[in-house]
Parts: sequence; structure tokens; C-alpha cells
Amino acid sequence: MKKFALAGNPNCGKTTLFNSLTGSTAHVGNWPGVTVDKKEGVYKKCEEPISIVDLPGIYSLSPYTPEEVISRNYILDEKPDCIINIIDATNLERNLYLTTQIMEIDVPIVVALNMMDAVEKNGDKVDPVKLEEKIGLPVVAISALKESGLDELMQRAYEASKQGRDGSTVLAGTELMHLIRDCKIALEGQKVENSLFHAIKLVELDEIEVGMHPDSAKMVEEFKQTFEDDTFGSDFEAIVADSRYKHISKNFSTVVVKNKKSEGERLTRSDKADRVLTHKIWGIPIFLLILFAIFHLTFSENFLFIGYGLPEDWVSLEGTVAEGLFGEGGINSPGVLLQGILGLATDSLTDAIRGAMEGGAVAEWATGFICDGILGGLFAVLSFLPQILLLFLFFSILEDSGYMARVAFILDRIFRKFGLSGRAFMPMIMGFGCSVPAMINTRTLADQNERTATLRVIPFFSCGAKLPILTAVAGGILSLANISNADIITYSMYVLGIVVAICAVLLMRNTTMRGEVPPFIMELPSYHAPQFKNLMLHLWDKLKHFIKKAFTIILVSTIVIWFFSHFSWSWHYLPDEEMNGSILASLGQLIQPLFTPIGFGSQCGAFGWVFAVAALTGLIAKENVIATFGTLASCVVSGFIADEALGGVDAIEALIGATGIGIPGLIAFIAFNMLTIPCFAAVATAKAESPSKKSFRMTLLFWIVTSYVVSMMIYLIGSWWWTLFIFLVLWGGVITLIVLNNKGIIDVKAFFEKFNFLRRNKKA
Ligand code: GDP
Ligand code: MG
Repeated sequence: MKKFALAGNPNCGKTTLFNSLTGSTAHVGNWPGVTVDKKEGVYKKCEEPISIVDLPGIYSLSPYTPEEVISRNYILDEKPDCIINIIDATNLERNLYLTTQIMEIDVPIVVALNMMDAVEKNGDKVDPVKLEEKIGLPVVAISALKESGLDELMQRAYEASKQGRDGSTVLAGTELMHLIRDCKIALEGQKVENSLFHAIKLVELDEIEVGMHPDSAKMVEEFKQTFEDDTFGSDFEAIVADSRYKHISKNFSTVVVKNKKSEGERLTRSDKADRVLTHKIWGIPIFLLILFAIFHLTFSENFLFIGYGLPEDWVSLEGTVAEGLFGEGGINSPGVLLQGILGLATDSLTDAIRGAMEGGAVAEWATGFICDGILGGLFAVLSFLPQILLLFLFFSILEDSGYMARVAFILDRIFRKFGLSGRAFMPMIMGFGCSVPAMINTRTLADQNERTATLRVIPFFSCGAKLPILTAVAGGILSLANISNADIITYSMYVLGIVVAICAVLLMRNTTMRGEVPPFIMELPSYHAPQFKNLMLHLWDKLKHFIKKAFTIILVSTIVIWFFSHFSWSWHYLPDEEMNGSILASLGQLIQPLFTPIGFGSQCGAFGWVFAVAALTGLIAKENVIATFGTLASCVVSGFIADEALGGVDAIEALIGATGIGIPGLIAFIAFNMLTIPCFAAVATAKAESPSKKSFRMTLLFWIVTSYVVSMMIYLIGSWWWTLFIFLVLWGGVITLIVLNNKGIIDVKAFFEKFNFLRRNKKA
């Protein structure tokens, strides 16, 4: 099968084109660096099926970041039959810089002039025919988004692929051209493929290239001694880059005709928005406010805080179905409303099944297994699906409109001082969706230490799977505190995650994970209205992922949990109210004391082990925490409030009643689950993305320690406020040590080495 590769700058529309061509649903994001791994699909509308590869976005073929290495190696080693070089026509000159490098490789190329719809909308003109003439490569105007011009593009790429092509360069008229030619001849003598491309990279003294052809590199070094340019001295890399840009602006500027008037208007409109949204001082508060608005719309049972102004009996829904849906104290937000509707459906389904099973001659344990074990667990998690989807819809809107890229920009300005670049915030923000792709995305970071530090804190950006924990436990906190704004709690926990992440990165970057902060060059993508198709793709992705997980990992876990909570060590079936004699209970009680310092251990009494077990099942998939509560709920209820009717008490409320856990313990429980070792999938990804085994082990330790320390602080300070001062003193001491060490006044490392030395001596 023929293979075509899509190459281009970040954010030029490669993935959108890839999806349109192959009908696949890869993630499209409005910020640079979304695709960091190559993806493959098949285009079927040509004479023969063609394999299409979506490469990570790159600005040049001199690789600095891992994603650039992936793209460069793919093009050079896998020898695609044609490269489709996608160019954002609204940014023609910048995009052509990469083109001038790709064309030096001996491979057929077709230029896809993308975003022509946006060009037209702006009233500008870009002339594909003129560009084709000047650049000497086939050019096709397309819009990946509107799916126009795609057939022609593929047809021309197909034709080009049959012909083959020798590399050509725009450096022909420059002073360095003899040197390039000499290198090329030398390389050809050694039977090196793509000799022109490699010769030019050699002249640029590109590190990888020098390593591969040391002999020819010597030739370049020698020539360098005799060469002096007025502006760049003998910095060949700079001379080459400058020549490319000069060639582009001299030859291609006439391809674009800007609509003068509209340009002025557009600039002021986008500028106006950015003057507010990326303001030095207000940028971050605005971001936090937007985030809160989203949480309010998704989780609030007191929408717009109207409830506080409403008379007690603002509407007589008391005792009706509608009361649960529309709200009691206040008005429900859309998210809660949707959740209520789904809850009604799942409740009546469970009731119907239970009724049928009890009516038939089905064993009591089987009814319990199906209704409480499986359905209880599954539905406990499923009930949060509407809120998860709604939250993601909002996140997708922020991302697709181009706002999230601004957030990275705002944060960069502040955190650069502390050793973190804005680039690192993109994978972090992706972590709100799922840690797995976010961790893979850390490949966009060039500095290994920055990459490791970022990888470690990604799980602190609470992912979709952690949402049920947050929401369910927040519900319990509300009932204890007698308030009705769950949104404030979920929001605060999200912000807590962000704050812990930032503090942890600062700590690492100033101690074990030091490093340069590479410059953060990113142009802000233009704002645009979010694409409906994109939003739906994102949601569909989430939904698919969720359903798949529900019927695999979560289902299996609930079944296992149910069995071990209903059988004793002597394999006797135990009815609900005797759960505390089960295998699971005795195992749970064994580890329960571990959680005492963080608020949900021994002090929670006979049923406290449920928290410990739930937290452990969360290590497989975070949804399991709530699924476990759901599975065990009826046992807790019947064991605790024996003989009471089961109806109306939810899992968390039953647990709160049975264990006497207070608000600090509940918050500590959320924090622990949010910050501790993430799910299986994320751990496997972290392992794969870690530079060494040792680093991975440190990552696991880091997660355990951070979650333990933070939840302990929450529990202790929440229970006894004066412990705050102890923590302040301790942290003050740690920070002073770090500062003194970094200033060279004391040497912590030497101290530890001495300590080690003493110990080793003792052994000997
Ligand atoms: P990639 O980083 O190169 O893979 O770019 P994406 O495919 O993720 O697209 C980046 C952004 O450009 C997204 O917000 C797309 O919706 C938008 N986009 C892509 N193609 C077009 C197009 O033809 N016209 C317009 N107006 N926007 C586009
Ligand atoms: Mg992409």
C-alpha cells in the first residue's frame, strides 16, 4: 500500500485533515503540540487504498524536541511515497519555512494550502497558482474543516507519488552553496541517501548530522575558519536560517494579498479580547472565574445562588418526582438536572429488576448480587456521566476556541521565574481530560528534568474518572455542613490539585529536577467559534471510553468486591448485615490503621475499612472508588441501621452515618484519591515515558508521599486548627534549607553523602 505522510507546523490543521481523509476521530485541539505520536489511517477514495500518517507538528527539521525527532526520522527513514505538506494559508510565510527544508529531501511533495475558508472570510487572497509557479511543487488550495479540495489534493499527491523527485533548495544563490555542493559530493561518495538534505544539515552543523558523518563535518569546520559574514560571523546555522527567510519574503510575499481594512479591524478585535483575557494582573483571576462558572453550571444545586433569596416553599414540589429534579433549597444547574433524570431511570430499572427477582423464585443472594452488587456499583458511577460529559463539553469549548492556549501563555509569564515554562502547562491542562494522553504529550518538552517533573504532577489535574469521587463525596460534605453548593467544593478541590501541582513542580525544579527553562515560543492561535463537529467528537470519545471501562474494569471490580464482601474465610455466604465478617472486611481492617493519620482509618470504627478498600480499588481505575461504595452501600445500610428501610439513603450518607467521619476526613479522602498513584493505565504510561526505572520508582514514591502529606495536613488542620502553625514551621524550615542550599551557604547533598559514608563504614 502506498504511504502518504502529513507534515506541517503545529496547529496548521493536520489532524483535522487526517480525520477528514480517513474518517477517524483523532483529537483535534486548538493549540500547538496536540499530536505527539504518529497516527495511521487509510484513505479509500483513490484508485488504490492509501495509508495516511499524521505526524507531530514541527517548525523545522533541526530537531530540538522529541516530537521533531519523530517527524524527521519518519520522513527520512520510512520513506513515505509522498509528503503532504500542510500550510496554514493565514500564516503563509512562517509555514513556508518548514517547506523550504522538506523540499531538500528526495521525496515527492504536495503542498496543501489549508484554511482557505478562513482566508476568504478575512477578505484576503492567497493565490495557489502563483505559489505553485514560484515554489516548483504542486499546490492545492483546501479547507480541511469544510472538506473542500480534498479529492484534488489526494489525486495530485497520488500522481506525484508515481514520479519520484530529487531534492531542491532555496539556498542555491547563497555564499554557502559551494560548501553545500562539496559536502553533497562527499556524502554521495559514501552512498548516503538524501545527500542534499544531509549536506545542508551538515553545513548547519546540526548535532545529529555531525555525529553521523564526522569526516564531512571536519570539512565544514575547516571552511568555517576561513569564513566571515558581516552579520552572523561564522554561525552557519544562523546564515542558513536567515537565507531561507529572506528567500521566502522576497519570493512569496506577492502570493498573498491582504485586505487592508479587514486586517486592521480584525487585529483590534482580537487584540481587544486579548488585552482583557491575557492581562498581566487580571488574566489569572479571569481564568479562575471562568473555571468556576463551568463548575457552577455543572454541579450546583443552588444555581446562580438564587436559593438564598427564595422563600422556603418557593414552589410546592414537596415529595414529588420534580422536587429531586428541579431542586429543593435552590434551583438545580443543568448538570444536576441531567443527573437527576438519569438517576430516575436507573433507579426504576433497578427497582423493576429487584421486584421481578423477588417475585420469582430466585435465591436471595442472587438478587443481592445482581441488584446491589453489579447494578449498585455500575449505576453509582454511571450516574455521574451527564456531569462528566457536560464538564468536558465546556472544556472542549475553551480549548477549541483558542482560550486554553492563552491560559498557558498567562501562566508562562509567571512560572518561568520558578523554572517552569508555559509549554509544560499544555500537557497539564490536557490532564483534566485523562492523564494518559497528557503524559504522552510531555514529549513536547525539550528539557528532560522539566519533562519528568511535569509527568509527575499531571495526575493532580483531576481527570474525568476522579469526578465521581469528588461529586459523590462533596454530596456527603453538603449534607454534613447543611449547604447546597456542591460546585464550590468540587471547584475548590480542582484548584487544590492545581496548587499542589504548582508547589510540587517548584519544589522539584529547585531541588532534584533542576534545569534550564527553554524559551517558550508559541504563537497564540486565532480565536474562533468552536466547531460543533469537534465538540461532538470529543464528547463521543469520552462516552465511548467511559462505557468501555464500565463494562470491563469497573464491572469486574464490582463483582470481585461483592464476592469478597459476601463470603467469609470458610466460604460461607454472608447476608448483607453480616458484611463485617467477610474476607474483604478482615483484609480492609488490616490496612485500615495506615489511613488513621489522614482521617479515614481506625477512628472510623467498624465500617471504616470501606474507605481503605475503596481507595485501593481506585488504583485500578478511579471510578472504582465510587463503584465500591455503591456495591457495599446496602450492606453498610443494613449493618448499621438494621431493620430500617433501605430507600432514600445513598451510599455516602450511609457511610457517614456508620463511620462518623467528619468534614476534614471526607476532604482528606478526596485529596488522597486525587493525588495518590493514579489508575493502572496512567501508571503504565508514566513507566513508558520515564527516562529510567529509577525515575519511575521515584515517581511512584512521589505520588504516595504527596498524597499522604497533603491529606494529612488537611485532616489535621481541619480537625485541630492550631496544627497549622506546626506545619507552617515545618515547611518554613524545609524552604529555608532549600534556599540556603541553592545559595551555596550549606550543602545538603554533602551532608547526606557523609551520612551514607558513615553507614557504609559501619557495615564494613
Ligand atoms: P494540528 O495541530 O496541525 O493537528 O491541527 P488541528 O487539526 O488540531 O487543528 C488546529 C485548529 O485549526 C483547530 O481548531 C481546527 O478546528 C482548525 N482548523 C483546521 N483546519 C481548518 C480549516 O480548514 N479552516 C479553519 N477555519 N480552521 C481549521
Ligand atoms: Mg494534530
